[in-house]
Amino acid sequence: MLKNIEKKRNVLLKNYCTFKIGGKAKIIYFPKNNDELIELLNKKNKLFILGNGSNILFPDSRFETPIICTKKLNKMFVQGDCVFCEAGASLFELCMFCQKHGLSGFEKLYGIPATVGGAIVMNAGAFGEEICSKLKSFKIFKKNGEIIEKKNFRYAYRKGPVEDDEILLSAIFKLKKEKKSKILNEMMEIFQKRKTLQPYNYPSAGSVFKRGENFLPAKLIDEWGLKGLKVGGACVSDKHAGFIINIKNASSNDVKKLIEEIERNASQHGFVFEKEIKVLK
Ligand SMILES: Cc1cc2nc3c(=O)[nH]c(=O)nc-3n(C[C@H](O)[C@H](O)[C@H](O)COP(=O)(O)OP(=O)(O)OC[C@H]3O[C@@H](n4cnc5c(N)ncnc54)[C@H](O)[C@@H]3O)c2cc1C
Repeated sequence: MLKNIEKKRNVLLKNYCTFKIGGKAKIIYFPKNNDELIELLNKKNKLFILGNGSNILFPDSRFETPIICTKKLNKMFVQGDCVFCEAGASLFELCMFCQKHGLSGFEKLYGIPATVGGAIVMNAGAFGEEICSKLKSFKIFKKNGEIIEKKNFRYAYRKGPVEDDEILLSAIFKLKKEKKSKILNEMMEIFQKRKTLQPYNYPSAGSVFKRGENFLPAKLIDEWGLKGLKVGGACVSDKHAGFIINIKNASSNDVKKLIEEIERNASQHGFVFEKEIKVLK
């Protein structure tokens, strides 16, 4: 019964995303098992699926679309050299879990503040590794109510194998056996690198723009002298020009205006930047 599913009304969205920006949401559901999730998906036509909110810019205005937050769907277990996990499991925890079981493959992804669902949808990646390269199969819910398991799929740079009208329920990854100490050392090295290269001390949603075919937006933004550019409380990071950071109670509009300013500069220099973050209305 929908009424038994945990929910919160009129909640501030800035508490549900890493940008710490956003107006109020009408309702957020927190299903705690697959049955509750499926029940919600079957009953609600229009909804928004939220993972850890680390690639999202919510609007300042009220968000009327019901939200389903997957974070309580976080079971994981190991079978041989494979690991099963539900969509809402944290990628941090999955990395640690695999390390404890001597399974290698996720070291370079350690530190990406994602849920497994959000990471697969975005085909999150770092330092030459992408999450989808470890994916063996995954289960999705389709809008017509079907649940199917996919074993053959395609993915691309920051574009996972989940279609816009599909919800990822769970995934199985195939990894390699490795010494636990070696995995841990690499994870720690990667985490240190991230902290050196990225502005971890400010709220953000990671890189705002996707890499181009033959250009890196962050490098160009830096060359055009836009590091430190501010609109309201939003600022182009001095540490990594691909990040917009929330330095002082930034609004969604501040970030949007800053993005527009960067896009205007890109266009003046003959480039088109594609957004990686999802800007919601
Ligand atoms: C400090 C920082 C560092 C980052 N570093 C990296 C990096 O190195 N590499 C990288 O690739 N990204 C990076 N990111 C961006 C972000 O973490 C990734 O895009 C991540 O994969 C988003 O996962 P999420 O769970 O937060 O998804 P959300 O932001 O909650 O959602 C992202 C999209 O996925 C959809 N979605 C989420 N779960 C599901 C589901 N179960 N089924 C269907 N759709 C779903 C949402 O509807 C939304 O459209 C970084 C972000 C931050 C803040």
